[in-house]
Amino acid sequence: MCHRSTAIHRYIQTKVTMNNYVSHLECGFTGERLTPNRVHALSPAGKPILVRYDLDRVSAEVDRDAMQLRPSGMWRYREVLPVREDANVVSLNETETPLVRLHALESRSGARRVDVKDEGRLPTGSFKARGLGMAVSMAKELGLRRLAMPTNGNAGSALAAYGSRAGMETYIFCPADTPEVNVREIALQGGKVWRVNGLINDCGKIVGAGKDRMGWFDVSTLKEPYRIEGKKTMGLELADQLDWRLPDVIFYPTGGGTGLIGMWKAFKEMRAIGWIEGALPRMVAVQASGCAPIVKAFEEGLRHADLWEGAHTIASGIRVPVAIGDFLILDAVRESGGFAIAVDDEDIAAAHERTPKEDGLLVCPEGAATIAAYEAALASGRVDPGEHAVLFNCGNGLKYPMPPSTAEIDHTAIDWDSIERA
Ligand SMILES: *Cc1c(COP(=O)(O)O)cnc(C)c1O
Repeated sequence: MCHRSTAIHRYIQTKVTMNNYVSHLECGFTGERLTPNRVHALSPAGKPILVRYDLDRVSAEVDRDAMQLRPSGMWRYREVLPVREDANVVSLNETETPLVRLHALESRSGARRVDVKDEGRLPTGSFKARGLGMAVSMAKELGLRRLAMPTNGNAGSALAAYGSRAGMETYIFCPADTPEVNVREIALQGGKVWRVNGLINDCGKIVGAGKDRMGWFDVSTLKEPYRIEGKKTMGLELADQLDWRLPDVIFYPTGGGTGLIGMWKAFKEMRAIGWIEGALPRMVAVQASGCAPIVKAFEEGLRHADLWEGAHTIASGIRVPVAIGDFLILDAVRESGGFAIAVDDEDIAAAHERTPKEDGLLVCPEGAATIAAYEAALASGRVDPGEHAVLFNCGNGLKYPMPPSTAEIDHTAIDWDSIERA
């Protein structure tokens, strides 16, 4: 028996080494090379760090069609992900998220094909599961035991869930106006959570200030290298489920921009490997007009965005007044031939109500923002109706406030007129 387990162990070891193709890490701004397999936060230049792979070796050794025979979900793309040892993968069985066509929107607008990639189906009800699933797996691999972050809600929920699954402690700080459902789901999933009498940047300051005393590792958006790699799987999965033919244009609700940066990275990696060919999708960064720093920088031709004062929008997931990866978002949008667009809360609310009514798909406000932005871009001619568009719904609509419904009926004196009029 001892013999057998040694053999299995040796097999896993071999498999593991063969599985990992990380060549190095690098500063996303200066390109400075950094050593893998050790704990990194921001780069020496204070910018986000990107993971680089030996793509030639991936190309020679990994067959994309054989990959499609594995179970679906983000871990299918193991060779272009950073985790070295299978035992360190912390997973809640992340499903492949479906592409749901908006038939009613298509016929109303004359568009050829519009899909929503519904990320609300993931564990913890948002695409934050991809990023935090990866970050927590890498934290496990690197021996970290205690993690902390500021959050507007969904990221904290995913951190708490994956942290608890990995047996780690998580410390989570939310602005005072974070929805009750988020604070409670964090607590129920084992996160130590506090409401803070301030904004998200005040919460971030607590995490920074507590580093020495509490010995925690900061997993804030883009302040460690691996959340991008998790979000990157949206791009891999999209190519995979469309048989390696990418859509023409992608609308992404942009807060910190992790997903937009990650997907663009995935597309370029897949093209270098040879898994996809031809033109890449145009990337469209969607923001709310009450908080649109990226849109402003895009229109002014700048590579960095200014802090947005007095940020407000009903789409709290994209209420991010300053993004540390601003230049990576803007580079991806420009390189892809895309654009950045802001939508009013009124139009977000209208799309939030219309989409479930006409197409049966419940979306979160940030997902609704991408639908509103798509329709605006179609109307203004920035997007052609012949283009295949993919819009991201990032969270489960059930986690968000819905318009009230108050109709009642007395079963002892049924008012059929009111039923008929409804
Ligand atoms: C985090 C979040 C976003 C923004 O995602 P980024 O990749 O950080 O830009 C949008 N919508 C929801 C619901 C979110 O939780």
